[in-house]
This record gives sequence, structure tokens and C-alpha cells, in this order.
Amino acid sequence: STTGAPLAFGGISIDCRSLTGIEDLDVDGQEAFVTVLPGTPLGALKRELQSEGWLLPPDPTSTPDCTAGGIVATNANGPRSLIYGATRNWVDAVELIDGRGTIAWWQRSRAEKHGSGFSFLSNPLDLLCGAEGTVGVFRRIRFRCIRAPEQTTGMLIPCPDLATAVALVSQARRDRLPASCIEGFDATALEAAASAEPRLRGVQAALWVEIDHPSGAREQRLSTWEMVLRAHQLDADVAIITEASGLKQAHAWRHRIPESLNAEGRRLRDHGGTKLSTDWCVPVSQLGAAFGVVDDLLTARGLAHIRHARYGHFGSGHPHHNWITRNHEETTTMKRLIFDAATQIQRMGGWFAAEHGIGKLKRALAESLIQPSLLAAAREARRTFDPHGLCAPGNLCMP
Ligand SMILES: Cc1cc2nc3c(=O)[nH]c(=O)nc-3n(C[C@H](O)[C@H](O)[C@H](O)COP(=O)(O)OP(=O)(O)OC[C@H]3O[C@@H](n4cnc5c(N)ncnc54)[C@H](O)[C@@H]3O)c2cc1C
Repeated sequence: STTGAPLAFGGISIDCRSLTGIEDLDVDGQEAFVTVLPGTPLGALKRELQSEGWLLPPDPTSTPDCTAGGIVATNANGPRSLIYGATRNWVDAVELIDGRGTIAWWQRSRAEKHGSGFSFLSNPLDLLCGAEGTVGVFRRIRFRCIRAPEQTTGMLIPCPDLATAVALVSQARRDRLPASCIEGFDATALEAAASAEPRLRGVQAALWVEIDHPSGAREQRLSTWEMVLRAHQLDADVAIITEASGLKQAHAWRHRIPESLNAEGRRLRDHGGTKLSTDWCVPVSQLGAAFGVVDDLLTARGLAHIRHARYGHFGSGHPHHNWITRNHEETTTMKRLIFDAATQIQRMGGWFAAEHGIGKLKRALAESLIQPSLLAAAREARRTFDPHGLCAPGNLCMP
């Protein structure tokens, strides 16, 4: 698994499915702090908080299936990380059983300023969020929540090609247009979504934008986009979605893309084919150049014919590339290309694993791209809390 690598090569697996539920909801003005058990499903938790008027922002595509403990351990991101950031921003405290058996609460400083020293000394949670279970097991988690937005408006913007979509994203970010998420899709990704939304069939590229706003502010927020869309000659076909059912339908077709491509890859396993994916992220100004790097490598290595979908968090400079290989040879050559492309992406100021964790499969990339002395420090931190190497062996870096 590339998704934070919950599968262990040996040892004991801990099943958190019965450790569910909200233990406490503490309201403090415009914020609320909710304490939950680690197996609490994120989707159910978000719905329950929403019914009380609160927003817990993390929104990975896996929201219906993943758990509170899992999102903290993988520091999960989602489309709305564009304005809300990753899960770590929303973790106030955790109760951790570390690899020595020590049980302790790890608390984020709530002070507005804590500038001195290593950041993990004032914010020790920064050592745990994204550690993929390598330091210990969360027994309780306290999340910070904010008031839920009064309204959300969605916009589907069909584009004639990927380059136009990328140009629009760059301008939207440069001009600070209001958006809680800006997702992008190429023709292959839209075709994969078409079984959930037939109107996407044949569309060459598109952006999906969501804007959170107070009620009564919709027209004002949309007017800032209208001018830019007109300048790019994209205003004619834009669909504005205001109803909750329309937003739900959009999330359903968005979710269908990885689902459908995963299924396609699985069908080719007997012949050595599969779905290969990446999680690179670049500064948003480099998005077009990063697509170019990949296209050039595919052409140079004779792999341009492989089915290739690009979709995801364009607004954060973070597209997912998915390739469907048909046999062993294509799979091996593509894996090499992915490794080489990640190296170039890193040189562009990017990061090779923006979400889904490093796990076991991206460990070789981590070892190649992260400074050896920093990896040594990570190993040392791990040994401090888990001297016997019991916690998530094989994830992130070797002990
Ligand atoms: C279809 C699909 C879509 C996804 N989309 C996204 C996405 O958009 N963004 C994103 O960031 N990720 C995504 N993921 C990856 C992954 O699902 C998320 O990162 C999710 O947060 C993992 O939660 P989980 O409960 O499934 O954890 P698991 O997969 O069960 O575990 C993930 C890691 O967390 C550790 N862990 C779990 N519980 C605990 C605990 N109580 N204490 C300590 N460690 C623990 C495990 O050891 C493992 O290393 C996706 C995965 C799938 C399958």
C-alpha cells in the first residue's frame, strides 16, 4: 500500500475499529475542541460536527472510509488543504502510547507566538503528525474545529486543454481569487469520472472550484472569477452549483476517478500491469513546467502511449499522475521514470510525497532525496520513542 502503509510485513496489527466515538466537545468562542477515539470514522465525525455547526477541515478523498487516527498518522491532505492546510493544523493534542509503553498527552501550544527553538519543542505534535505510526499508537485525539461556512458554491469550468486550465489556476492563485479548493482534470481523468457524470465525456480538461462564503455573499465572490474567466474566454460554459445535492454529485464523480483507475489497474495484474501513481507537489507557478518534465521523459523513453491521467489539487501545485501499465516491462520502465521525474520535481522546489505518506514503497525515494543527516535525525527520534522497533516497522525510514 502507498497510503501510509498500514500493512506490516510481520508483528502484531492493532484493529481500532471498536475504538470509536466522541468523548468530549468543548466550545471556546469561535472554536471547538473535540476529543475522539482513534478508530472514529472521519466521515461520520465530520457529519456529526456539521450538525452542531462546526467544521473539522481535513478532507482526504478517503473521508468516508478513513479514521481519526489514520488521518493524524498520515497528516492527510485533501482538496480543501488549499485554504485549511493539512491535518496537522487541526490537531490540538493526542494521547500516545509510544514504543516503550509510555502513555502521555502531547499538546500543541495554543499561544499565538512560540518562535524560539526547534519547532517540535513548542509544537511536539509536529513530530507525530505524518509519522505513519512509527512513534507509537494514538489512544485519543483532540481536534480543533471552526465554525462551518454558511454556504458553499461550486463551479465546473470546462477548458479546451490542460494548458488553459493550468494558466487559469496560476492566475487564480496570483490574483488571490476566493476558493476553498481548485481541482484540475485532464481528458483521461474526466473520462474515468464519466460513469458517475456522463456530461464529462469528451471534455478535454476542466477545473472544479469551491468557494465557502457567508450567505448573501455569493454574487460578490463569483464576480471576481467572472472577469478572469472572461479574459480566458471560458465564461460561456461554466456551471454554477449552489444546491447541496449538486455539490454531493460533484464529490461523487471526483471520487470515481481514483476508484475507476484503481479498478482498471487491478484488471491488468495477471499480465504484470498495474496502476502507478505519484504524489508530487510543486510551487503552483511551476505546475505547467512540471507537466512538461513528465511529458518530455515519457517521450524520450518511448512511453508516451501509456494511458496517463492527471487530476487533483492543481490549486496547490499537486496533481496526481496515474499510469495504467499493461505488462511487466511497462511497469518496470515506468517505475524508473517515476523515480527520475521525482528527482527533477524536487529540484524545482517541489516535494516528492505531498500526501498518502511515504510508507514502504516511497522509502527509496526518501532515501535518495532527503539529506542523509536529516534522515539520521529522523531515525534517532524514532529510536528514542520506539527503541525496540515495534511501531509500524518498515514505514518512512529503517530504524
Ligand atoms: C481511495 C483512497 C483515497 C485517498 N485519498 C487521500 C487523500 O485525498 N489525501 C490523503 O492525504 N490521503 C488519502 N488517502 C490515503 C489514506 O487513506 C489517508 O491518508 C487516511 O488518512 C488513512 O487513514 P486510515 O484510517 O485509512 O489509516 P490506515 O490506512 O489504516 O493507516 C495509515 C497509517 O496510519 C497509521 N495509524 C492508523 N491508526 C493509527 C493510530 N491510532 N495510531 C497511530 N498510527 C495509526 C498506520 O500505522 C498506517 O501507517 C487515500 C486512500 C485511499 C484508499
